[in-house]
Amino acid sequence: MFKKSFFVMTIALLFSNNSISAFDDVKITSTEVTSNIHMLVGKGGNVGVFVGKDGTFIIDDQFAPLSEKLMNEIKKVGGNAPTFLLNTHFHGDHSGGNENFGKKGAMIVSHDNVRKRLLAGSEIKEFGMVSPPAPAEALPILTFDSKMHFHINGDDVAAIHVPNAHTDGDSFIHFKNANVIHAGDIFFNGFYPFIDSSHGGSVKGVISAVTAILALSNDETKIIPGHGPLASKADLEAYKQMLEAAYMSLSQLKAKGLSKSQVISKKPLQTIDKEWSDGMFSSDKWIEVIYPNAL
Ligand SMILES: [Zn+2]
Repeated sequence: MFKKSFFVMTIALLFSNNSISAFDDVKITSTEVTSNIHMLVGKGGNVGVFVGKDGTFIIDDQFAPLSEKLMNEIKKVGGNAPTFLLNTHFHGDHSGGNENFGKKGAMIVSHDNVRKRLLAGSEIKEFGMVSPPAPAEALPILTFDSKMHFHINGDDVAAIHVPNAHTDGDSFIHFKNANVIHAGDIFFNGFYPFIDSSHGGSVKGVISAVTAILALSNDETKIIPGHGPLASKADLEAYKQMLEAAYMSLSQLKAKGLSKSQVISKKPLQTIDKEWSDGMFSSDKWIEVIYPNAL
């Protein structure tokens, strides 16, 4: 029972955007990643803030009711109204503030598919989360298909698309000189991740995306995950090992023709559950979400 209620509560925390009062108590806190890059945590996806003489660049923006609080924290870490806002993917807990920041003059940037999803509206059935088509001010006005470079604030910053990972429009952001990466929801640090297979996500794609991030990382790299605490390369390696073990075990059972409930009753992830099932999904719930379409 505890697991179930914890699951419901956590999902509500991550995805609920219906009630403004649900945001009244949210506090935005910041973690220094480097002297001019900070990770902001509130409710929803972790926000990256990069400040400098050329302007403020933010990655993701949580939910609309939090924009003012985010803006206050951005100022505290030395920033101004963002010049650039990049969405790592379309989910509402990462792009909900787009309209507010767009109206303040931010140029919104994303992979092509993020704009398509926001323009069309979406439904995430797993959480009963319906998002109507986004207004014009919330839409990315600069989009890319594989990669985009920003040459600002003394760094070379690349947004790199990875296909069919958490969704079909993910990108991670690599700050080359700072040796920092914002992974978006390719990386849930410390727990079983949501993989949005109804919008093109797959476990295999997440593993490939993680591999691409690891290839650009070393022992000093600081990695901002979509959810969870600031991470190291070792944390991301452990996450990759977990995903590979889960993929191998579950895809074999699927190939044998076992149903979802048959697989759940076998407890196939028992050896890794202790470490990974304590955040967002219990083991059973995670298998229920990924088994039908993400493998
Ligand atoms: Zn997401």
